Amino acid sequence: MSDLKITGLYKRYGNVEVLKDINLDIKSGEFIVFVGPSGCGKSTLLRTISGLETISAGQLEIGGRVVNDVAPSKRGIAMVFQSYALYPHMTVFDNMAYSLKLTRTPRDEIRKKVEEAAEMLQLSPYLERLPKALSGGQRQRVAIGRAIVRNPQVFLFDEPLSNLDAALRVATRMEIARLKDSLPETTMIYVTHDQVEAMTLADRIVVLKDGVVMQVGTPMELYDHPQSLFVAGFIGSPKMNFLTGRNAEPYGAATVGVRPEHMDIVPDGQGAWSGKVIYSEDLGSDSYIYVDIGETDPVIIRQEGKTPYHTGAVISFEPRADLYHRFDASGKPVTTPAKTPVTSEA
Ligand code: ADP
Repeated sequence: MSDLKITGLYKRYGNVEVLKDINLDIKSGEFIVFVGPSGCGKSTLLRTISGLETISAGQLEIGGRVVNDVAPSKRGIAMVFQSYALYPHMTVFDNMAYSLKLTRTPRDEIRKKVEEAAEMLQLSPYLERLPKALSGGQRQRVAIGRAIVRNPQVFLFDEPLSNLDAALRVATRMEIARLKDSLPETTMIYVTHDQVEAMTLADRIVVLKDGVVMQVGTPMELYDHPQSLFVAGFIGSPKMNFLTGRNAEPYGAATVGVRPEHMDIVPDGQGAWSGKVIYSEDLGSDSYIYVDIGETDPVIIRQEGKTPYHTGAVISFEPRADLYHRFDASGKPVTTPAKTPVTSEA
């Protein structure tokens, strides 16, 4: 059993509360991703789970056992950091075998475990190499392999891909997804600021802001039903557009949120909003059109394929029916039924 229960957890540094009343139930085998802006407390929460940081108040249970005062090495967890810190003079095999040698595991068992982990991470051809003869992605996989051989109940990842270039990030992300499938019993908690990693790897995402949990849900729950303006703006890339004031009034909301892919350009000029194109980007597969309608940020509209609308064009557009989000002045969702906005008065 490797479920994890966090109840009323606080972390303070002096007078500063960095984590406030965190409550989370993580099921055995779940892949959980912590996201949030820099400084929101993601790493601190991960470090309190690992035992590298103490807890100021509240309770942490792993596998039904309260571990507040249990040493990191006795919690059944393994942690993978962004810097992989391999021993440079040891082969891949020896790096992965090191912790097992320390615990005097029999040689045959060490070989079996290292070979199994290498197989899982596609490292079998490299066992006799030194780390310097590996790519960054392969090194990070060795660091993961070193953790796997210890057979942890809970795996903690702190931005493990952030030192890799774009192509290696994609490849290593796929390795982590495979790893999750090969270790269905192992609970995994993963910190990242990368949208794609969060959306593709997580069973559930925990969104943090200023040390508070804003929302917990599957990637699609957060994407489709954000429970605050903050989560609406944080999940999704490019960001959800926010339209306010006069632009939102017809919808009975202080702010209307519409994702770039949920805007339709209306050729006859009868859309809810209109403005001048200030910039357009053709990416081949799709294009992004940036439109000034008097909001602080330009509205971004995604179109499939190439766009006929370029700088200077005046276009009219509207949200796709039922694919927009309404928020009140405090940033909470508006729950009263939407009126059909009057859009053609101009
Ligand atoms: P994140 O991982 O989301 O970027 P962190 O968990 O690293 O955020 O930090 C959360 C907050 O706690 C930040 O404001 C940071 O300055 C503060 N903090 C982290 N570690 C310490 C420490 N050892 N002493 C004092 N403040 C800290």
